[in-house]
This record gives sequence, C-alpha cells and structure tokens, in this order.
Amino acid sequence: TTQTEVQLIGKNEVLPNYIPREKFSHKGQFGHALIIGGSYGKIGAVSLASRSALSAGAGLVTAYIPKCGYNVLQTALPEVMVITDADDEKITNIAFDIEPTVIGIGVGLGTDTKSQKAFEAFLKTNKTPLVIDADGINLLAKKKSLLKQLPEETVLTPHPKELERLIGSWENDFDKLEKVKAFSNKYKVIIVVKGANSITVFDNTLYVNTTGNPGLATAGSGDVLTGIITGLISQGYHPVVASIFGVYLHGKAADIAVEDYGYQSLIASYVIDNMGQAFIDLF
Ligand code: AMP
Ligand code: MG
Repeated sequence: TTQTEVQLIGKNEVLPNYIPREKFSHKGQFGHALIIGGSYGKIGAVSLASRSALSAGAGLVTAYIPKCGYNVLQTALPEVMVITDADDEKITNIAFDIEPTVIGIGVGLGTDTKSQKAFEAFLKTNKTPLVIDADGINLLAKKKSLLKQLPEETVLTPHPKELERLIGSWENDFDKLEKVKAFSNKYKVIIVVKGANSITVFDNTLYVNTTGNPGLATAGSGDVLTGIITGLISQGYHPVVASIFGVYLHGKAADIAVEDYGYQSLIASYVIDNMGQAFIDLF
C-alpha cells in the first residue's frame, strides 16, 4: 500500500488558505452556489444548506426544490433565490437556466424512483463541481456506475451509515480509512468521513479535524456542513481546501455555540448563526 500522510487540522493549518475580502469586492467574485434537494417534509434540509452557503461567503445562492417548498423558502430566506421542479413533492427533473459555480446536491432529496432518474440524468451531462451529501450519496451507493460520471474532485460527505452503503462495512477504524482511501483514489473524489474528528480523505492524505463537539449530533448539522463546503467552493476555494476548511469552521461554530446552548440544546441553525464568530476567531 502507498504511504499515508496524516495531518491534524487546527487554526494554524487553515489560516494560510484563508482568502481575504478586498475593499472593492463585489458579489460576482464569490460565485453562485446552487443547492439541489428537498422533498415533501424535508425542505428544511435545503433551507439549512442554502443559508449555510451564504454564511460561508457565497456571492449568490439558488435553491432547486420541489414546488411545495417555494413559499417556505422564499419566506424563510429572503437572500436565497428559488427554482422549482415541476412536481409538488419531489424532484423529478433537474433543469435550470443559471450557470452555477458549484452545486451541492442530495440534502432532503429522498430516493423516490423519479428523483433517482432525475439525479442520474443530471450526472450524465453535468460538468459543474459538485458536493454530494445524504440521499445523493445513497443514490450513488445504489448504482456504483454513476461514480465514474462525477467530475474530478467531487466532494462526498457521508455520515457513518452513508459511508457503509458507499464502501461496504469495515472491521476497524484502520480498515475503514484504508477502504476510504482506495475509494477516493479510484474515483478521484474527496471524501469527508463525518463523526467526532471528521477526516477529509484525498490523495493518500488524511486531514483530521480538531474542532466540533457532541452538540453536533443533532438533526440538520450535516446539511449545514454541505452548505458551508459548497459556499466555500463557490467563492474560489479548491474543493480539498473547502472541505478541510469547511469542516473546521463547522466545528468551530459549534464550539462557540455550545458556550451559550450546551450540547443538548444546540440545534443546527445555531451553528450557522455562529459562522461569523468562527471566521472572526481565525484572527
Ligand atoms: P449528519 O449525520 O449528516 O447530520 O452529519 C452530522 C454532522 O455533525 C457531521 O458534520 C458530523 O461530523 C458532526 N457530528 C456528529 N456527531 C458528532 C460528535 N459527536 N462530535 C463532533 N461532531 C459530530
Ligand atoms: Mg446528513
């Protein structure tokens, strides 16, 4: 097997990658992030991811969702633009006339056959950089041949169950990371292995995050991470850097949030609310 490099990721490691914001910047420089997902009863996942992409610094954010979420999203997030699918309850066809910088896909998507078909058709023609999470990962796991169609350096953010569906079961942590490494090399994808001390895996390197806490073991916290990474890629961070930095900021924002809320009461929205403090804490 190849040498594996292990890097612990703290403030000193992410800081050199930080892109400062110039006085004369305008939103056009920070890209247009598109979040695709949602289904009846799971529009909140897209809401969280879209708001997170903005909080990470994306210039523009559009959400692509089934019709039922239109009023909800436009009311909850005035900064976010919305494109709706023809179907009321689920995504059945992914078509849009914008040119996004990056697409975050899968949160709240569901695995309905029609959504599966739409996802497959989308991957066939898509050339835009991708962050794939949740049911997007589940659909890839269901049909592994789709993995060959992903743009290089696509980011996958599986939680343990999604990871198991994707790479199969493992015997121990060492075995798990060897399997993730092999998978990442085979398909040239970046894999964020989520959990306490999330590990970003790419090019035989394991980037072990040092921020975050058990307060993140709560509904929607993964959707927030997806939005953050998508928002960072949108404004020009390389996908590997966006993954490492995004996981760091997500954990840091949660560490700041627990000071006020404690582990039990922390909810995913508070992580977004503290993204500003996580950025400010860098300096
Ligand atoms: P998901 O299961 O998709 O909602 O993702 C959960 C998110 O919370 C991931 O970013 C995990 O890394 C993070 N998380 C979950 N449990 C913990 C924990 N005990 N400590 C730190 N981070 C956690
Ligand atoms: Mg999730």
